[in-house]
Amino acid sequence: MALIVHKYGGTSMGSTERIRNVARRVAKWHKAGHQMVVVPSAMSGETNRLLGLAKELAPAKPGKAHGRELDMLASTGEQASSALLAIALQAEGMDAVSYAGWQVPIKTNDAYTKARIESIDDARVRADLEAGKVVIVTGFQGIDGDGNITTLGRGGSDTSAVAVAAALKAAECLIYTDVDGVYTTDPRVVPEARRLLRVSFEEMLEMASMGSKVLQIRSVEFAGKYQVPLRVLSSFTPWDIDLAEEAASGTLITFEEDEQMEQAVVSGIAFNRDEAKVSVLGVPDKPGIAAQILGAVADANIEVDVIIQNLSKDGKTDFSFTVHRNDYQKTLDLLKAQVVPALGAADVVGDNRICKVSIVGIGMRSHVGVASRMFRCLSNEGINIQMISTSEIKTSVVIDEKYMELAVRALHREFDLDRTADTISA
Ligand code: ADP
Ligand code: ASP
Ligand code: MG
Repeated sequence: MALIVHKYGGTSMGSTERIRNVARRVAKWHKAGHQMVVVPSAMSGETNRLLGLAKELAPAKPGKAHGRELDMLASTGEQASSALLAIALQAEGMDAVSYAGWQVPIKTNDAYTKARIESIDDARVRADLEAGKVVIVTGFQGIDGDGNITTLGRGGSDTSAVAVAAALKAAECLIYTDVDGVYTTDPRVVPEARRLLRVSFEEMLEMASMGSKVLQIRSVEFAGKYQVPLRVLSSFTPWDIDLAEEAASGTLITFEEDEQMEQAVVSGIAFNRDEAKVSVLGVPDKPGIAAQILGAVADANIEVDVIIQNLSKDGKTDFSFTVHRNDYQKTLDLLKAQVVPALGAADVVGDNRICKVSIVGIGMRSHVGVASRMFRCLSNEGINIQMISTSEIKTSVVIDEKYMELAVRALHREFDLDRTADTISA
């Protein structure tokens, strides 16, 4: 008997038949004596459809006015799926109620399309739970200080679910999705990928931030901050499978590092096609250059990821970094207009056909030579590395986009991920 939060992704909510399956599964948990809060995503394709309509009318525009309307629009997807789930639960004879983010309320800042949750009032949900109701809270959305609807960034329903679980001090947050757990890499790219029984919170954080979209990074950050027990599992099992079996399935995100986990040098491979590379060429090599270039970029609210500054030759150097692909043109324009003339740099060039591939594992802390093994493996495949970035438990490389799948497959083999100790066979 515990308070449990379930989150169902878009594919899991993708048709009325699937919503009925979700309702029956949730009813099963409730009937076993648990208090249930459910956080659904919009039905699959719906968020893209809505944002696509906006794009037909006007290209993405910076500024609050446009962002506010995008959130007003995109949030409706979750409102619809939440109401449909409540209707399906009621049809199963359950007492169920759905709330939009603003009705809870889930308060956020006003960074439209990528707002951050600031607080969640648990009173209304808690009262309903005490009254025996199943409570459905829309994923992906909240309300800002002025009463405007906000959304939390793509994949944000994961974050809603974990934040609601943290606010309610839930015993566990279960993320139901269209794969049966967290794999060594995206199983859609590498069919030999294997499911991890457990993955440490730190590794999951790196995998998510390096591009594994199975969990939105902010949901992992929340889970870490509030120590929310988190599990990723399949919504495609029959709804009436044994509850204990279901509760133990998938991948558990753990907060302790156990011995078994330390054996694997690399636990997973993440990749990300969302970045673009920008280089400022022929920059005078003197103090303050990085601050001047990146300062201008930061002032335009553009996030920078991998950064390299080359050795200088004849007092000139090249300075490269990556930004989100959506910010690529804006970054080029800004550098050309402001930075090149101010610095007396030679030119700005860019490439938006790159990708970033990362190996992640807490075992990397205690093993030397992991990065060089990665570089050798890529070189054996004839793949040129354009940029490198490392942290204690990950190494990332930026390479040509067309080699992404080749690189991920080769690294998956190189680090024996198709037969790692901490996985089970598919
Ligand atoms: P949902 O709609 O349920 O939130 P998402 O599409 O956001 O689902 O995330 C699940 C998808 O994440 C999977 O279908 C899979 O293709 C992808 N994915 C990427 N990396 C991984 C990984 N390491 N393990 C499992 N799935 C991954
Ligand atoms: N519906 C939103 C999206 O497609 C949020 C989510 O699914 O988590 O990004
Ligand atoms: Mg998702």
